[in-house]
Amino acid sequence: MFNPPRCPNRACRYHGSPAADRCWFARHGHYQPLCRPHPVQRFRCLGCRRRFSRQTFRMDYRDHRPDLNPKLFELLASGVGLRQSSRLLGLSLRCLELKYRKIARHLRRLNLNLQDQLPAWATLQFDELETFEQMRTLRPLTVPLLIERNSRFIIWAESAPIPARHRKTRHGKTRVEELRQKGRRHDGSRRACRRTLGRAAALARNLGTIGIETDEKRIYPSLIREAFGAEHGIAHETTKSTRVRDVSNPLFPINQTEAIARDLMGRLRRQSWLVSKKRRYLDIALALFTSWRNLVRRRFNYDEFSPAEMLGFTPRRMTEEELCSWRQDWGRRSIHPLAWNAASIEGFTAREVQRAS
Ligand SMILES: [Zn+2]
Repeated sequence: MFNPPRCPNRACRYHGSPAADRCWFARHGHYQPLCRPHPVQRFRCLGCRRRFSRQTFRMDYRDHRPDLNPKLFELLASGVGLRQSSRLLGLSLRCLELKYRKIARHLRRLNLNLQDQLPAWATLQFDELETFEQMRTLRPLTVPLLIERNSRFIIWAESAPIPARHRKTRHGKTRVEELRQKGRRHDGSRRACRRTLGRAAALARNLGTIGIETDEKRIYPSLIREAFGAEHGIAHETTKSTRVRDVSNPLFPINQTEAIARDLMGRLRRQSWLVSKKRRYLDIALALFTSWRNLVRRRFNYDEFSPAEMLGFTPRRMTEEELCSWRQDWGRRSIHPLAWNAASIEGFTAREVQRAS
């Protein structure tokens, strides 16, 4: 039976610290949703007297077609564009855009909530890939990407603007001047790299020495030292970026991850109609791809395990339906996607660890 973990009302005293010892809610009948065969349990909070239901804790709360969420997630993680997805699912483009943003933002939170401390054998790889928003030469973007090498787990990826190209040609000069009048385009590469490495630093507190592999870009050593601080030893290995990108290349895992990302996110593909109009929607697309790669897909085709499973973050691979389940806006205290008794991610992970030992 489902017991609500907290009162959804943010102003209520049972929102932040729900009473563990006594019952703070009362069961308050059911309602019959149009989109499901089963009735949904309703509750009333004894603190603020507000009413809510089991559905209030679901990610598809207030959605019109919740049954299409997993399908849409699958399509968008397979390189299909927004318009084509709307044709396939029979939704309007606007409706689909809003669904996409809601699902992707939910998945970004879920991916962060499920991350935990890295095991001792973890080795990091860091690289940047290049893409653009709107115009390839005048609005280029860099995407710093950080993975754990052995499990292929993507720790973080985000985009940042970099200065326009072809500023020397006559055509380029006039266009750059036009754009400058609309607002200067700053170089955000350094800041994005710093934030990306910072995500790994939060997961590497148990590691004595940080093993990290990159190419020979000159700002990386100082950024890495800055991110991981003095308490860690750093074993930084570099590879020439001109080296052939085959299996023998030490950076093959991250090169392959980038190739998969370019293939499965239509907007990153070269020679494609698909394009990011706004950088922030590229960022949420990266979150969607990241959670699909980390939690749904096997590490390799012959493997049984997902990257998150290999690092011990989740007990098994998950399906799209499971990822589009409980709301994740309460950090590690949100409900775990695999917990049907509404256990939090913290509680669920602790129990899994106990069971394993
Ligand atoms: Zn309440």
